[in-house]
Amino acid sequence: MSPDDIRRVLEFYQDLGIKSIYRRGSQLTAAAPASVAEPEPILSFDDLPPVPPRTMRVSPPAMIDLIPLAPVNDSLERIRTDIGDCKRCRLCEGRNKIVFGSGNENSSLVFVGEGPGADEDASGLPFVGRAGQLLTQMIEGTALKEGIAIKRPDVYICNVVKCRPPENRAPQPDEMEICGQFLFRQLSAMKPKAICALGSTAAKAVLGTKEGVTKLRGNWHKWRDIPVMVTYHPSYLLRPYNQNAKREAWEDLKKVLHFVYD
Ligand code: URA
Repeated sequence: MSPDDIRRVLEFYQDLGIKSIYRRGSQLTAAAPASVAEPEPILSFDDLPPVPPRTMRVSPPAMIDLIPLAPVNDSLERIRTDIGDCKRCRLCEGRNKIVFGSGNENSSLVFVGEGPGADEDASGLPFVGRAGQLLTQMIEGTALKEGIAIKRPDVYICNVVKCRPPENRAPQPDEMEICGQFLFRQLSAMKPKAICALGSTAAKAVLGTKEGVTKLRGNWHKWRDIPVMVTYHPSYLLRPYNQNAKREAWEDLKKVLHFVYD
């Protein structure tokens, strides 16, 4: 690529708000999702002399294979269409249904879990098994107690990965990276007032941190400009010896519901 071609690529990404380009294998790829340790950028705007202000937006050079980025006026429908019959990672091999998300698509509150389990894989809906029933109780029980008139269908619920990992194992970093782009597009398209990350996989994906839930929970963090509360995953709360965590999760949820609905 000539220096002019490189500049055009960088300006194209800069227009999209992307600051650095990384090399993965032999491909150029835009801003790595937060779940993955950030490599050294191979191209950076700091390497170039200042660019005079432009009135026209540039098109990317044809020979660059661009990864899908959030289109202008993105929508959940379009994201689901783009996912299609996804074969982008190994999780497609064992799945029955892609679990995209459910609930009120205009909700001010989005819950993000880890990935589908067996019940979700069979139904195509997130959080419908035992953990899902507990999540429903947590949302509706807390809302009722706090005098907030919402039910589970009023919020939106989705996961970091949309296909069930085998044996319910935690999603691997490359699976989170690939599917994370769709989660980020969902969050960007919905622009909720707050996000509640359920468990460490969701916290890792949304906040790009290695910190555990115990450390992160109870305080507000941010994804882009959106406040994020991390709390325990309902599956963790189902274990009988985690009663203290259950109480803490209820406290976290109380904070979230008052912040969003007061
Ligand atoms: N656990 C999750 O993280 N997500 C689901 O949808 C179900 C269980």
